[in-house]
Amino acid sequence: MINIAIDGPAGAGKSTIARSLASKLGYIYVDTGALYRAVGVNAMRSGADTKNPEQVCATLDGADVSLRFVDGEQRVFLGEEDVSVAIRTPEASMAASNVSAIPEVRAFLFDLQRDIAAKNNCIMDGRDIGTVVLPDAQVKIFLTASAEVRAKRRYDELLAKGMQADYNQVLEEMIQRDYQDSHRAIAPLKQADDAVLVDTSDMNLEQVIETLENIVKENI
Ligand code: C5P
Repeated sequence: MINIAIDGPAGAGKSTIARSLASKLGYIYVDTGALYRAVGVNAMRSGADTKNPEQVCATLDGADVSLRFVDGEQRVFLGEEDVSVAIRTPEASMAASNVSAIPEVRAFLFDLQRDIAAKNNCIMDGRDIGTVVLPDAQVKIFLTASAEVRAKRRYDELLAKGMQADYNQVLEEMIQRDYQDSHRAIAPLKQADDAVLVDTSDMNLEQVIETLENIVKENI
């Protein structure tokens, strides 16, 4: 199977780009952040403090997290409930970042990610795909942009979804989440040695897609 790993900080455009590229290539797109979000939301709903490893681990037994692909689109389920929309709030973002630093949570989600990649041609995005989950991926890309550009994109996205947002708060939360994700002891956000770095700060969507298409063509 052909696996393409895209890692990078929040709001770098990973999901938009990966989705578009996957549909052009006929691959499935796997958004691994959604898995951490689902675990985070499940922990919050159980009343756990998402920063408390013991409390979060106690929720893992009952956490039936799964991914289903409907017309090529990924949906995330907790049991039989489709939580694809519920996991997109700012609270869920921070809960995901909190629980993702817990080794048991990463172990809990590891096989699920590996299984999908073993069975499908896929583009998988996250923080540790090129470094930990798929170290042998045929193509690895590290997508980034300045914090201000990323916050503006995320802010626009929230408004477009009809959610209320404050730009400065979005920026602050993004910086905090990136710091947390890059400084954790296990599987921190970092560029794999053999990943191609793409800084999208001054690029529009079409330019990013074209750049990534070229990288994929050169490597497959
Ligand atoms: O990509 P997204 O912003 O949805 O991810 C939410 C959070 O899940 C991240 O801030 C990060 O803490 C965690 N995550 C992770 N490893 C991944 C994907 C996401 O730790 N492969």
